This record gives sequence, C-alpha cells and structure tokens, in this order.
Amino acid sequence: MDQQPPPATTHAVQPIGAAAASFLAAGPKKLLIDGAWCAARSGKLFETYNPASGAVLGEAASGDKADVDAAVAAARKAFDDPAWSGMSPHARTRLLLRIADRVEANLEELAQIESLNNGTPLSLARLMIAGVAETFIYYAGWSTKIYGETNPGTPDLLNYTLRQPVGVCGHIIPWNGPLTSAAWKIAPALAMGNTVILKPAEQTPLSAVRFAELLIEAGVPDGVFNLITGYGETAGAAIAGHPGIDKVGFTGSTEVGKKILIASAGNLKRVTLELGGKSPNIIYPDADLDAAAAATLMGFCFLSGQICVAASRVLVHRSVHDEFAHKLAELTKTLVIGDPFDPATTMGPLASREQFERVKSYFHIGRADGARVVTGGAAIERAGYFVQPTVFGDVDNAMRIAREEVFGPVTTLIAFDTEEQALRIANDTDYGLAGAVWTRDLATAHRNARLLNAGTVWINTYAHTDLISPFGGLKQSGIGRELGRHALDAYTEVKSVFAKLG
Ligand code: ADP
Ligand code: MG
Repeated sequence: MDQQPPPATTHAVQPIGAAAASFLAAGPKKLLIDGAWCAARSGKLFETYNPASGAVLGEAASGDKADVDAAVAAARKAFDDPAWSGMSPHARTRLLLRIADRVEANLEELAQIESLNNGTPLSLARLMIAGVAETFIYYAGWSTKIYGETNPGTPDLLNYTLRQPVGVCGHIIPWNGPLTSAAWKIAPALAMGNTVILKPAEQTPLSAVRFAELLIEAGVPDGVFNLITGYGETAGAAIAGHPGIDKVGFTGSTEVGKKILIASAGNLKRVTLELGGKSPNIIYPDADLDAAAAATLMGFCFLSGQICVAASRVLVHRSVHDEFAHKLAELTKTLVIGDPFDPATTMGPLASREQFERVKSYFHIGRADGARVVTGGAAIERAGYFVQPTVFGDVDNAMRIAREEVFGPVTTLIAFDTEEQALRIANDTDYGLAGAVWTRDLATAHRNARLLNAGTVWINTYAHTDLISPFGGLKQSGIGRELGRHALDAYTEVKSVFAKLG
C-alpha cells in the first residue's frame, strides 16, 4: 500500500474577505417568509460548522412544520397575486438577469461562505458560483420562449394549449454544491412563474441565506421566494408532505428521495428527484490511458468525491488493468490536499463529521469484503475531516464498495475481459445516473453510449455538464430531468382549451 504524502502546507492561505466575515459575524441566520426575516416559531437554532477545522461557523434558525406552514401560505398568496401571476414574461426575464447580476457582484463572498461551510476549495467554489449566475442568465431567456400551440382539430372547434406554472414549489437541496443545486431548481421555477420555498441542508445553511438576501435586492416580490433553514426530518419532511405545495424538487440521497416520494403522495405532488449514483467508467484496451487516468482522478476526487456522478466504479480491461491502476495511484499523489482557502489546494476536506465517519466506514468495509487497497484507505491526521484519495483493486461488482454510494474520494477497480461483460457489469447496479467509455474506436464508443443505462454518458471525457443539456438519472438515480429545456416540463403544466366556433 502506497503512503500518501503529508498534506500540503497551508503557507498561502487566503484570509476571509471583509464581506464574508461581516456576514458570519452578524449573528444567527433567520428564515425568509413573505419578504420578511424572522426567527423560527419555536425559537430554536442549530449550529453549523467549518469542516476544514471542525469549528462552529455560525447558527441558523431551525425551521419546522409551523414555519413551513407560514411559508406555504406566503408562497400561495404570492402565486395568486397579480404582482407575480400577472408579471409579463419579459419582466421575469429582467428579474432573472438582475438575480444573475447580484450573484456576480457578490461572487467572492458567496464562494467564501460556501467554501467555509462545506470545504469546497475556494478556487472551485468561485467557478460554481459563476455557474449559479449563468443558470439564471440561461433560464432568463426561456421566460419568453415557452408557450402553447394551436392544434389542427375539427373545424368548428378552436383548440389550443397553455403552458402555465405548476404553483408552489418546495426545493430541498444537499450540502455538496448548495447554490448550484438551488439555482438548477429556482431559476427554471421563477422563469416559468412559480413560487418557491427553499430548504438547504442542515450541514450548509449559510450560502442560501446570503443568496436569499440577494434575491430580495434583485426585486423578487414578497413571498415569491421563501427560505426555511432546518433539519431534513422536520423542515424537509414538512415540505414533502405539505398539502399546499404543488411540486417538490429534490437533490440528495436515494434513501431520502424515496421518503419524499412517499410523503408527496398525499396530494400527488409533482416530484423531480436527482439522487445517487454508482457510475461506471469503462476503460477499453485501446483507450488513451493517461487521459483516462487523469479524468478518472478528477471524476472520483472532485469535491472530495462528494458528487453524484462520481467515477466510483472503474471497469478496466484486464490487459491494461495493472498499468491503469499504477497510473491512477501515481496521479493521486499530485492532488494538493489542504485548506480550502489555500489557492494551491485541489482537494479539501469532506463536508461534515457525518460524511467523515461514513467514508471511513467504507475503508473498513472494502477491506473486510476482500478488496485490495491500491492507494489511500485512511483518514489524514490533521484537524478537520480530511481523508486520503483511495483506490480499491480486485473489486467484485457484488461488494458493497461497488454497490453503495460512498460519497467520498474512493473508487473501485473492476477487471473485465469482453465488451459484453463490461456492459453487463456496468448496468448491474441500482443506479443509472452517468457512465463513461474510453476507447479510440467510434463504433464501440457509440454502441456503449446507447447500451449504458445512464442519464448521461461521456465518451473519452468525464463529468461534463452543460446548462443546455438535460441532467438526471434512470432507475434509482432519480425521476425527471434538470437543466436544459427539459427542466421546463417540470415547472409547467399543459392545459388544453377547446372553444366552440359557431
Ligand atoms: P445526505 O445523506 O448526503 O445528508 P440527504 O438526502 O440526507 O443527503 O439530504 C439531502 C437533503 O434532504 C437535505 O436538505 C436534508 O435536510 C433533506 N432531508 C433529509 N431527510 C429528509 C426527509 N425525511 N424529508 C425531507 N427532506 C429530508
Ligand atoms: Mg442526511
């Protein structure tokens, strides 16, 4: 087993900027309901942490059912108010563009808050916040471009369709890229004229609070956007089960996604779920192994592996298996693991103590199931929730480390002999979020793209998403699609109107 180099020194750690510091110093964060900031009705607060040190970073209101009730009432009132329902699509375009402007003007502060709260390297957090602004710009354009059609039917009837907003949307998001997940939901929701209640993860409430302030600054009318910070079992469950909410958009674990689907059955909410994955990354013998290894490294170590599309099962042709394993293990040493505010850092800590314990448990599970540790396999001795990038070899697809989503910088190498076998192993999973194929042969590449059971397939690359392109999962990776024009289907209802002519 290779030894990891000691973590990089934090010689050049950037100080926290004045804006983020004053936001953090301003005291416990409140809920936003009907345009007003308020404490939770229970008066309760919860603490939130900096995972790079384990220290308390701040406190936020612990919203629960009573607060969700108030937010739903506000969101319903706003939905029915002509100030919103009568706003022209052109005006909604301008509103979304103003939101993008506010995000861009406060990009560094938002990136710092997010990095401090979930350990994303600041350099990456900046790119992610830039993506948040882009998401609003992209959906701003759609406000004026979604409309119904007139249907050629019987001549004495005029039949046309209207595309109308769904209503009050509850958005429950995770901690790995809070504002990214939020933007993917809020931007299409507002573009189509819905109203929103956002619940960030209890691990990372802070960036959503600052973002909510910016929405108000941008001129979002009272009640059109409401923020409830709090726990999943209380605030989240109240949203999923609320009879006054028309649609739930969720990103998170498959386990919680199932609970949300069940809770939403009470009033048959529209539900979109973006859940876990165990994405196969197939390396054929004719692949560019250096490119494949480099992309695989980022595929399982980007955001410390806490991404739903993580390259967590690497299927390698037996003839190149050992060479690839060696290249990948060597590449893990090039990661600069350290303080998220150090510009040199390429991998930060896991986002929470809970994640830290979970990932460490899989180091044990992998070994106990008979996998070989090619590199890594342990926590890093320092403050905060840091673990080594870890590659398990000699993995059988039946092992728990090949079947369960670890959500850490951990991947598995599975050898195969034939294409048919590779595809069978790749598709032998409960998940279907993403997959990749590495080959120089065009026919193999496109055949695999068709046969992989996944919502996204990459050929000779990994982990690309584009706002223009639909994103979502098959099987237990989710329901529905986010991004692109496909997301608009989740935020509109189609109404068919018949008018008798004469
Ligand atoms: P993880 O296991 O990685 O923390 P979760 O799926 O638990 O991911 O969390 C994603 C989001 O779901 C968070 O905002 C969390 O608060 C919320 N959540 C957790 N449990 C529930 C629940 N029972 N009902 C609704 N939301 C929940
Ligand atoms: Mg959870």
